[in-house]
Amino acid sequence: MNPLDAILKPKSIAVVGASRRQGSIGREILHQLIEFDFHGKLFPVNPKGDFIHSIKAFPTVSSIPDPVDLAIIVVPRDEVQSVIDDCGKKGVRGLVVITAGFSETGEDGKRFEAQLGERVRQYGMRMIGPNCMGVINTDPAVRMDATFAPTLPLPGRIAFMSQSGALGVAILNIARQLDIGFSYFVSLGNKTNVSGNDLLKYWEDDPETDLILMYLESFGNAKRFMQICRRISKRKPLLVVKSGRTEAGARAATSHTGALAANQGLDIATGALLEQCGVVRVNTVEELFDLALAFSKNPLPRGNRLGILTNAGGPAIMATDTAIAHGLRMADFSERTCHELRRLLPPEASIQNPVDMTPQSDRGKYDACARILLEDDGIDMLLVVFVPPMMINTMDIILGLEKLRHKYLKPVVGVIMATEEFFGELNRDHPNHMALYIFPESAVNGLAALHHYRLWRDKPVGAVKRFEVRSGTAEDILQEVRQQGRGQMTAEEGLRLIGCYGILVAESIPAVNRKELERVAKELRYPVVLKAVAPDLVHKMDAGGVIVDLRGPEELLAAAQKMTESVARHRGDTAGAGGLGFLIQEFVHGGREVIVGMNHDPKYGPLVMFGLGGIYVETVKDVVFRVPPLTDLEAHEMIQQIRGYSLLRGVRGDAPIDFDALAEVLQRFSQLAEDMPEIAEIEINPLLVFPQAADFRAVDARVRLRGERGDGV
Ligand code: ADP
Ligand code: MG
Repeated sequence: MNPLDAILKPKSIAVVGASRRQGSIGREILHQLIEFDFHGKLFPVNPKGDFIHSIKAFPTVSSIPDPVDLAIIVVPRDEVQSVIDDCGKKGVRGLVVITAGFSETGEDGKRFEAQLGERVRQYGMRMIGPNCMGVINTDPAVRMDATFAPTLPLPGRIAFMSQSGALGVAILNIARQLDIGFSYFVSLGNKTNVSGNDLLKYWEDDPETDLILMYLESFGNAKRFMQICRRISKRKPLLVVKSGRTEAGARAATSHTGALAANQGLDIATGALLEQCGVVRVNTVEELFDLALAFSKNPLPRGNRLGILTNAGGPAIMATDTAIAHGLRMADFSERTCHELRRLLPPEASIQNPVDMTPQSDRGKYDACARILLEDDGIDMLLVVFVPPMMINTMDIILGLEKLRHKYLKPVVGVIMATEEFFGELNRDHPNHMALYIFPESAVNGLAALHHYRLWRDKPVGAVKRFEVRSGTAEDILQEVRQQGRGQMTAEEGLRLIGCYGILVAESIPAVNRKELERVAKELRYPVVLKAVAPDLVHKMDAGGVIVDLRGPEELLAAAQKMTESVARHRGDTAGAGGLGFLIQEFVHGGREVIVGMNHDPKYGPLVMFGLGGIYVETVKDVVFRVPPLTDLEAHEMIQQIRGYSLLRGVRGDAPIDFDALAEVLQRFSQLAEDMPEIAEIEINPLLVFPQAADFRAVDARVRLRGERGDGV
C-alpha cells in the first residue's frame, strides 16, 4: 500500500475545523464532500458543535471511535500543531492542511512550517499543504471532493496538480465548461511534506490516469523531477505550465556560459530541463486547456498529415497557417478521396485540402465527407470546422461526427463557432464528447502537440557513452591549481585538462617571461600565436593579449614587445606589465568557431552549453543549454538547435564540419562535467571546428573551481 493512499483514497475522513457558519471554509469542505457523495465515513470535528450538517460532530480527532485515514485541517494557524499531535495520537496517516499563514508570510511562518513538517515526519504521516485548497479523487470507489471549489469536478482520466490554490479553483471551473474530467486534483500548497515529485510517482502507475497536468511555480528537487519525468513521459504525456519565467539570476560570472545562463534567467535552465525529459511546456493556462482537450479526447496520430473539413473559408485558412507554423502538413488526398468528394459536393465546393463544402452542407454532407477523409490512409488527423448557418442544426452535426470518430483510430477535433448555451447543452446531454474549440488556432495547437508528443514518445532514447579518458591526470591538474590557492586555471592548464578528455587542443608552450620566450623562439614551428598570461587577464583579446599568425622569431619577439605595452596600457599605469607571462600556440588556420561551456545552476546543477563561439557569443547569443549527461542523440540535437547551424553545415560551397566529431566533443565534455564536480565553470571558446575531425582544435579554455566566489554552487 502506498502511503499517499491515506490522502488520495481514504476510507474515512475527519474534517477538523468543520463549521456551521455559511461561507466558512470548514463548512464548504464538509458540504462538498457530502455533495460529491464521498464513499466513506465522514467525521466533522469541532469542539463546540454536536451536529454539523446533520452529522454528529466530535470535539477532537482522538475522540472519534472509528479509525481515521485522513484529517483535513482548517483550524487557525496556531492550532494546527496541536491538531496534528492529536491526529498522531489517533494514528491518522494522511493530512491535508488548508490553513494558511506559513512560509508564504515570511520568516516567522517559515519557522512554524519547519516545525510542522518535522512533527509530521516524526509521526510518519504524509501531509499535503499547508496553504492549499484541497484534494479530489473522482474514482467511483472513492468520490472525494475535499476542496472548497464551488464546481463539482467531472470524472476523467487527467491527474492535475497545482501549486496555486486560487488558480486551481479557476481551472476546475473552466475544465467543467470544456467537458474535461479529472481522475485526481491536488492543490500542493507549500509542499512541506508531499512534493510534486511524490505525486508524479503516485500517478505514474495509476490505472485511472492517462495524462498529467501541472501548474508549477518552483521545482523542489529539479534533478529528481527530471529523472521522474523522463521515465513517465514515455508512457503518459506530461503538460506543464511553469510560471516564474523572469527569475533572472544576477550572479556574477567570469565566463560567457555563466553570464548567458544568468542573463537569460532560470527559464533557460527550465526550458532545457523540461524539453530534455519530454515534458510539454505551455506558457499560459489557456494553452494548457487547448492541449489537455486534444490529449484527453484523442488517440495519438500516426503522422503529421492534417485534413480539414469546413463550411467556411476563413477559419480553415487560419487553421492551415497555424498548422504549417506548428510543423504539421496539409495532407495530399488520394485519388479515390478526390473522386468521392467530387461526386458528393456541389461544383462550387473546393475539394482540395481544406475541403470547403459551402454553407449549405448539412449533417449528411458532414458525415459523408468526414468518413471519406478518415478512410484516406494519407490523412493522420482531421479538423472539422463548422460555422453555424441559420438553417442547419449544430447539435446534429456534432452528434454525427461523434458517432463516426470512434470508428477510426485518428484524432478528430472540431472548431465550432457556437454560443455558450450550446456548449452547456452539449455537455449536459452528451458528456465525453469530442474535443471542441472556439478558435481554429487553438484546435491546431492541440493537434500539433499530439503529433510532437508522439514523436518524442517514439524517439529512441539515445545512449550516454563513456569514453576512455585520462581522468587521473585531469585530477592532478586540478589539485595542483588548488594547492597553489588559485580558483582559476590558466588557459594552458585548462587546455591540458580538456586534453585529458580526448578533446584535441592546439599545441601550447608556456613561457614565464621574455627571456624564456627568446630561448624557445628559435625551436618553434611557425606560424604561431602569442598570448598574454596573467591571473587578472580574463579576456585576453580586449587587452591586446592575442596576436595571431606570427611567421618567425623576429615577428614573435616584436609581438611580445607590443603585447607587453598594450597590456600595461590596458591595466593602467600602476600595475604596468608586471608578472606577465606568455603562451605560444600553433596557429590554427581557418575553421569555424564554436563555444562549449558548462556552469552550475544553483537549482539544476550542471548545465552544458553549446553555440557559435568567438565574437558571436556576445553579439548574437546563439546558444543552447542541456542537462548532462548528454546522450549521443542530445548532443546532435544541441548542434542542430542553434540558429547558426547553417553556418556549420556550410554556406556558399563550404564543406560541412564533421558533426559526429563535434557531437563527440560535447559528450566528452559532458563526461568531464559529471566526473569533476569541483569545477564550477568551464568554457572552451573557441573550439575551431573543420570538415575533418583530426583538424579540430580547442585554442582557449577557462576553468573556475568551486568555492571561490560564493556563487551558490
Ligand atoms: P580571449 O578569449 O581571452 O580573448 P582567445 O585565446 O580565445 O582569447 O583568442 C581570441 C581569438 O583569437 C579567438 O577567438 C580566435 O579567433 C583567435 N585565436 C586564438 N588562438 C588561436 C590559434 N591558436 N589559432 C588561430 N586563431 C586563434
Ligand atoms: Mg577565448
